[in-house]
Amino acid sequence: MMCNDARLLLHAYLDDELDAAQSVAITRHMQGCATCAADYADYAQLRKAMAQSSLYRHAPDELRKQWKAPERATSPVIAKPRRGLVGLAMAAGFVGALLLVAPMWLYMQHQRGGDTSAMVGDAVSSHIRSMQQQHLMDVVSTDQHTVKPWFEGKLDFSPRVKDLAGEGFPLIGGRLDALDGHSVAALVYKRRLHVINLYQWPSTSTTSAQDITQWHGYTVIRWASRNMQYVAVSDVNEDDLRQFVLAFENDAVSPPMR
Ligand SMILES: [Zn+2]
Repeated sequence: MMCNDARLLLHAYLDDELDAAQSVAITRHMQGCATCAADYADYAQLRKAMAQSSLYRHAPDELRKQWKAPERATSPVIAKPRRGLVGLAMAAGFVGALLLVAPMWLYMQHQRGGDTSAMVGDAVSSHIRSMQQQHLMDVVSTDQHTVKPWFEGKLDFSPRVKDLAGEGFPLIGGRLDALDGHSVAALVYKRRLHVINLYQWPSTSTTSAQDITQWHGYTVIRWASRNMQYVAVSDVNEDDLRQFVLAFENDAVSPPMR
């Protein structure tokens, strides 16, 4: 099970609505995935917090008495004005419930898009952070034969490194980074005056379609290929970034290194 699937099922898991197989799969996933485990802990905490009696206001006795009065009243003449009061109390209760539920609903909406928006936001934040001086590159080199070995021993996988100078995207270096709870290799490319950050880490899915998102003036393209997850972020226009991804994926296997 991957994070995307796990997150879709977290709410149902919390509500004990999953079948045994799914429950086991998600339990196993969370044992190995700190990010999803943390999300689950957040939901559980939120649910617990929402059940606190301090969040609920009890109507004053006087209002309760009036509220219950129509039930005892047999005369429609007496019941009539009371009904107005009940309506008002119900309306007030409804607004109160809405006020309580709205933040939770917004929170859930945010979490649901969760996977997309949180990851895209993370990627853009990381890209912006990298642009600050001294943060862009740990290894400065336009030579893929220097950049690739630099990662050795620093990550538990060997990233794919390609120079794309011929395609108009020269490699300028790389660094270690963290994204979506993973230690990732960040390759840094240039497009004219713009910087492109390409993040990669191992993935269980061999291939996935490209997911293109615009986020506050940045373009983020996510895809998986040959058991690697990739995220490309830049402020170049979308066409340029698509072209970059195409160039990176082109020729399938990078030439042997070392
Ligand atoms: Zn996960």
